Amino acid sequence: TAVEDAEIRPAKKPVDEAVTPRSQDFSRWYLDVIDAAELADYGPVRGTMVIRPYGYAIWEFVQSWLDAKFKETGHSNMYFPQLIPYSFIEKETSHVEGFSPELALVTIGGGKELEEKLVVRPTSETMVNHMFAQWIRSHRDLPLLVNQWANVTRWERRTKPFIRTLEFLWQEGHTAHATAQEAEEEALRMIEVYRTFAVEQAAMPVIVGRKSRLERFAGAICTYTIEAMMGDRRALQAGTSHNLGQNFARAFETQFTDVNGDLQHIWQTSWGMSTRMVGGIIMTHGDDKGLMLPPKLAPIQVVIVPIWKKGDEQEAVLQAAHKVESLVRAAGIRVKLDTFDQRTPGWKFNHWELKGVPIRIEIGPKDVANNSVVVARRDVPGKAGKEFGIFMDRSVLIDHLRAKLDDIQSSLLARATEFRDSNIVDVNSYEELKAVIAEGKWARGPWCGSDDNETTVKEETGATIRCFPFDQPEAKTCIFTNKTAHEVAIFAKSY
Ligand code: AMP
Repeated sequence: TAVEDAEIRPAKKPVDEAVTPRSQDFSRWYLDVIDAAELADYGPVRGTMVIRPYGYAIWEFVQSWLDAKFKETGHSNMYFPQLIPYSFIEKETSHVEGFSPELALVTIGGGKELEEKLVVRPTSETMVNHMFAQWIRSHRDLPLLVNQWANVTRWERRTKPFIRTLEFLWQEGHTAHATAQEAEEEALRMIEVYRTFAVEQAAMPVIVGRKSRLERFAGAICTYTIEAMMGDRRALQAGTSHNLGQNFARAFETQFTDVNGDLQHIWQTSWGMSTRMVGGIIMTHGDDKGLMLPPKLAPIQVVIVPIWKKGDEQEAVLQAAHKVESLVRAAGIRVKLDTFDQRTPGWKFNHWELKGVPIRIEIGPKDVANNSVVVARRDVPGKAGKEFGIFMDRSVLIDHLRAKLDDIQSSLLARATEFRDSNIVDVNSYEELKAVIAEGKWARGPWCGSDDNETTVKEETGATIRCFPFDQPEAKTCIFTNKTAHEVAIFAKSY
């Protein structure tokens, strides 16, 4: 309906107006931060976004870390075309069923009706299989391990910048193997890469697990996921890795001759992480003042704000600030010196806090006289986060900054982990689950229900099974069927 398709686009705030407090309206806060911190803007077509330089720089850190890991684990980058013949999408039954409602189609090219309509790729399994079927002949061609960095298009109904857009940037890994076991190992290896990224780089604690049948990727036999808790306690699926079994291989006749000379279908995986991750970082760490970036992904790790009152102080302060800037830059720390003289230091403090810069260095006339600086942490508000009299000379200052950046990185992770753990509740009955979900928390309980049971829970509570976590306590009686359950599942409302 029109209402469901609508997109909430709040009016832009005047430059100096503070963002809506997070505690007051989380959703509005999120959109305000994206606008005020200049991360992204809306595209003219509903659900599309323009990623601005500051937001794109965060995505580039996501990319460069993942790209290095993919290469370390034996994958090569390549590129497949964006337009896919419609007949490809139809070949794998559950794939077409899952993706049909979200497809964007091209029916006219160069002013002429096309003989076969084309799909703007929502994901590339079908295209990949079309090519793999031509390249793979024998077991010597396996494993085949590739990745592509690309844009994909899914005609989503409800959209939100970064979190769910019609067009998004991602990487999609595609691999082919000779055995079921190798494919399963690969799917697990890559979800572990995503977990490591989320925890160690984004300071985002995630729960790793397996998706339910209903929630898994269309065409997969098993989907693994990392699930993160956002600041409003909604769940975010932050990355997925699929064991595709032989589903696509059968549909596309992707076969190889094994060591015994027998013809077999290949075993496959695919896995993806997208620009959604940037939205996840904003909603995990941000506060009423705006963005709070984990140092490892911060485009600017340290900002220097020079402070002077009288004109004759300016030269000495700026000279010291430039000296500090070059020391910090030479140490490989990403630094920005804010010399703009049309704004007050107070304005600049707010501005760089809004932008989530982890550390601020203040240099005033007194500091110059003492050969020292003041260091303030973004994650510890006000005076408490300030340290005075840190010496300006290289070894003292650089060691201090490095230690602080590490400390901020681990503090953000610790804070988010504590928040998450205090909002997951073990439940023993469906009544308990309902109460926990109504409170906005996550419920964890034994589950062996059917697809229909799962749908009932979704309809009655708004919560879905986020995953069956790898980390399993002993399961007891299923909260829904009262039968013996072998696993616990985590239920939550999600983005
Ligand atoms: P999938 O191939 O469907 O498993 O998608 C891989 C990952 O991309 C998901 O785990 C999401 O984190 C992300 N993703 C899926 N749909 C969107 C979207 N519309 N916008 C941004 N990210 C998305």
